Amino acid sequence: MNVQICELCMKSNVLCSGCDDKLKKGKISEMDVKISRLLYKLKDKYNLQNAGFTKAIDLGRVVLVLTNKDVGLLIGREGKVVAEISQAVGKKVRIAEMSGDIKKTIADIVAPAKILGINKIYRKEGNLYKVRFSRREIKQLPVDINTLEKALKSLLGSEVMIVFE
Ligand SMILES: [Zn+2]
Repeated sequence: MNVQICELCMKSNVLCSGCDDKLKKGKISEMDVKISRLLYKLKDKYNLQNAGFTKAIDLGRVVLVLTNKDVGLLIGREGKVVAEISQAVGKKVRIAEMSGDIKKTIADIVAPAKILGINKIYRKEGNLYKVRFSRREIKQLPVDINTLEKALKSLLGSEVMIVFE
């Protein structure tokens, strides 16, 4: 299983100095630790040996759980795994794939809203991603625009601007 804390820390209730350092530096969050441990606990019950967990992003009403492996594994048969995660974090959970294809990752995150296009704008001060939607998609967005911009920014490590056309 591929998660952000080491196996020792998945099994125990304390963090080793290496993982604790990641937490203090903000590379991982308390929620990431919680979900990693939960997945470890569930791994035999739901066959999660090949599952991956990259990061959890709190979108307010919904927690987005990103995986670099098969999305289906973290959803589980009849949604059982995602239901367990949801119960542990106390919020609705959506699983999305974090792939090399940024467009696909963003599409997963904003579903059911559909993206018109993404433009990467190269700037001296850092790249900017312009994520474009049709105006009628506003209601379909899973979260408000501000929260979404912040979440995408933390995910992409670049400025993100959401525009409606
Ligand atoms: Zn550790």
